Amino acid sequence: MENKFKFYNTLTRNIDTVIPHEDGKIAMYTCGPTVYHYAHIGNLRSYIMEDVLEKALRYVGYDVKRVMNITDVGHLSSDADTGEDKMLKGAKREHKTVMEIAKFYTDAFFDDCKKLNIKRPDVVEPATNCIPEFIHMIEVLLEKGYAYVAGGNVYFDTSRLDDYYVFSSQSEKELLVGVRDDVEEDVNKRNKNDFVLWFTKSKFEDQALKWDSPWGVGYPGWHIECSCISIKHLGIHCGGVDNIFPHHTNEIAQSESYLGHKWCGYWFHVNHLNDKSGKMSKSKGDFLTVSLLQEKGYDPIVYRMFCLQSHYRKPLEFSYEVLDNMSVAYKKLVKRIADLKADGTVDEGKFAEYKEKFCDAISNDLNTSMAITIVYDLLKDDTLNDATKRALAEDFDRVLSLNLTTAKVENPAEDTEVDAELEAYILEKIEERKAAKKEKDFAKADAIRDDLLAKGIVLKDTREGVIWHKA
Ligand code: AMP
Ligand code: ZN
Repeated sequence: MENKFKFYNTLTRNIDTVIPHEDGKIAMYTCGPTVYHYAHIGNLRSYIMEDVLEKALRYVGYDVKRVMNITDVGHLSSDADTGEDKMLKGAKREHKTVMEIAKFYTDAFFDDCKKLNIKRPDVVEPATNCIPEFIHMIEVLLEKGYAYVAGGNVYFDTSRLDDYYVFSSQSEKELLVGVRDDVEEDVNKRNKNDFVLWFTKSKFEDQALKWDSPWGVGYPGWHIECSCISIKHLGIHCGGVDNIFPHHTNEIAQSESYLGHKWCGYWFHVNHLNDKSGKMSKSKGDFLTVSLLQEKGYDPIVYRMFCLQSHYRKPLEFSYEVLDNMSVAYKKLVKRIADLKADGTVDEGKFAEYKEKFCDAISNDLNTSMAITIVYDLLKDDTLNDATKRALAEDFDRVLSLNLTTAKVENPAEDTEVDAELEAYILEKIEERKAAKKEKDFAKADAIRDDLLAKGIVLKDTREGVIWHKA
């Protein structure tokens, strides 16, 4: 098949055309969530854009196999092996076992994905299912002299590599050598950037999950899981930009040393979602989830549209004002599509013409905002009949997944129309809730909100005060 799908490859720092090893087939590996907490909408920005990448590749004709790991062990508070295991931290926070936490948040993650129309990957692999494979890979790295045992742990020896900072330009590399002064000293490491392949003695105190290994009872480092799982399926390797260093840098170091040759050629990274105080992160504790957006009355698909309207390589700043505008735009869009007449036949010529434009947009470094503009363009094109417009919207939604032809239609203008009696009741309840909050009676405030929701009314707290609309 013709190869014209291109995207920005972090490894080559170029917009590269994808050339698969096997004609027509592409494997994609996505770094999955660390399941110690809910995914925040920043994490989900990465998964939305990776989902669009997968669907775009399928749309242009590739047979895609998508693989994702679930990090349920080995990811310490700092990405550079310091601090506590995040899973253990989650378990302690909730007085549960690590496996209970892993199950709960893995399910919660896939629930969120479902709400955002993110397809479940073909293969989902929890790290704890693959321990013997990690041990084998570490044994080979030791045999080949790329790893060493110190203080009971096994470390990767980065001094054995000619080019460790593969993702950086020459001038960036010069600046990076010897960085990581912020990282607490591990006296066992021979070089600053060495990283742990297998923990035994250090970081061990009350580690819940541990396995027997040739180096003693312990658990794997975070990077080894992604190398080991993805090595079987590559591909394009995906993640958020914070994964570039050290996670993906270390994955390349150990995978290429293990294999003895160059490994993954395509790296796709999604930039961050920020809030006013900077990068949204789970460790900050105070973060936005899909459920919270729903509680505030937003359709999760509006958040998907918000992500698609911006390019995946640009940082994206979240605000409720923009989401409110997106919500109105989305309602209008699906209404316009729903209002298309059902009769008539599809004009094949016009259909192909628009399809080509759409393919060009998504194949050109995943230009999703252009793809959405094409939907608006076709709706206002007088030379297209309604049947063709509807067929195109349906077809493009295989990639966009915005429920363009299936969403429940609401008239945005009629959103706040209720009878006077109900309106008076709502306003009274809003005042009551305000008073309850002032008295810190949050249970009562929540009960009022739930009572209104049961009556089909959603309350939204904004900086300007409380607003409401019909559910
Ligand atoms: P984690 O669950 O922390 O392992 O992260 C899951 C994914 O979300 C990784 O690919 C991260 O790179 C990505 N990620 C983390 N924070 C953000 C953010 N604020 N915006 C976009 N992606 C993020
Ligand atoms: Zn990973």
